[in-house]
Amino acid sequence: MSDSPPLVAQLTAQMVRIESTNPGPAGEDLPGRREADISAFVLEWLRARGVSADRREFLSGRFNVSAVVPGAGPRRLLLDAHTDTVPTEGMAGDPFSGEIRDGRVIGRGACDDKGTLAAAMCALAGLVADGVQPPATIELLASGDEEGGFRGIRDWVVRGGRADGAIVGEASELQLIAAAKGAVRLKVRTHGNSVHTSVPELGVNAVTAMARVICGIEDELKPKLAACTHPLLGTPRLTVSMVHGGRRANIVPDFCEIDLDRRLLPAETRESALAEIDALLADLRSRHSDLSVERCEPYSYVIAPECPLDDPLLLAAAEALRAEGLPGEPRGVPYTTHASVLAEAGIPCITLGPGSIDQAHSPDEWVEISQLEAAVRLYRRLFETFGAPG
Ligand SMILES: [Zn+2]
Repeated sequence: MSDSPPLVAQLTAQMVRIESTNPGPAGEDLPGRREADISAFVLEWLRARGVSADRREFLSGRFNVSAVVPGAGPRRLLLDAHTDTVPTEGMAGDPFSGEIRDGRVIGRGACDDKGTLAAAMCALAGLVADGVQPPATIELLASGDEEGGFRGIRDWVVRGGRADGAIVGEASELQLIAAAKGAVRLKVRTHGNSVHTSVPELGVNAVTAMARVICGIEDELKPKLAACTHPLLGTPRLTVSMVHGGRRANIVPDFCEIDLDRRLLPAETRESALAEIDALLADLRSRHSDLSVERCEPYSYVIAPECPLDDPLLLAAAEALRAEGLPGEPRGVPYTTHASVLAEAGIPCITLGPGSIDQAHSPDEWVEISQLEAAVRLYRRLFETFGAPG
């Protein structure tokens, strides 16, 4: 018989075969397996290997699993990996095959985030099997709803979850991610006066008013953002991502609405980003007396997490990476993860996981087995070094 795949690859494949599609931020009524089956599997797998674990329902039918290995000292290390996945639209073949081929595990969730979760589970089970007491208490959180509203990790924080450092297990190609951008999203509305398009001079056109606002954003606000930079993250970003306006082809529109997606640097806050938009709108109003524009309160906001470069977890991770022959230089990423929620709760966070973000959410999702095996070794090393008396 040929060599069978390593345990971490088999475990990743097993979990890919358990559908756990997130129904979306507002998709409570959509069908989907969510996190019930996968969390039951994770719980049972860990308990069968002598790891103390519990499951908590944070929303109806939706679960976090928490496994804890007590440490010798007072510190706590959290390793978070999520159990839910994005939907499977556009994927060729069976997205839940969990096929192992050409040194890869293939299928929805292989890279984001079941490979990482499998590596974390194997590392923790290995620690227990070898009878090693880690210097810090290790908590593995298999969280739900990462691809929706981050409600699993928020529940963990609200229920008093705490740690002296957190590894957010997400695909980073085993690079050390120390900073990420935050995001604030909001709507801006213009109001007009509807009349028949045969006499447009009697009305006020909300769509052409919005055109002024969009030009102001592109020509006046964005160049100012380009002047702010962060050593790991570059410049902030601002995108007009949606536009809706008008009622019929023969009516002057009285309403138009855009969605703005503003990516933040660690030094920026929701308030500072809103103040810039407000200043632009005030300036536009002063130049165009008929402009009726309102900026709405944001409907979503996450901070930009940044781990101090001398934080003990970051130093331990850099050391573990170098021991594995990998670069330990801290890097930044432009997307948001659970690190935003954990950093807001005051927990220093790094992001470190196997697989590439290029394969996450893609129609061709896979993770390299060699990355999974390296992740198991890295996590194990971190479990054994973080919190050790130095
Ligand atoms: Zn993910």
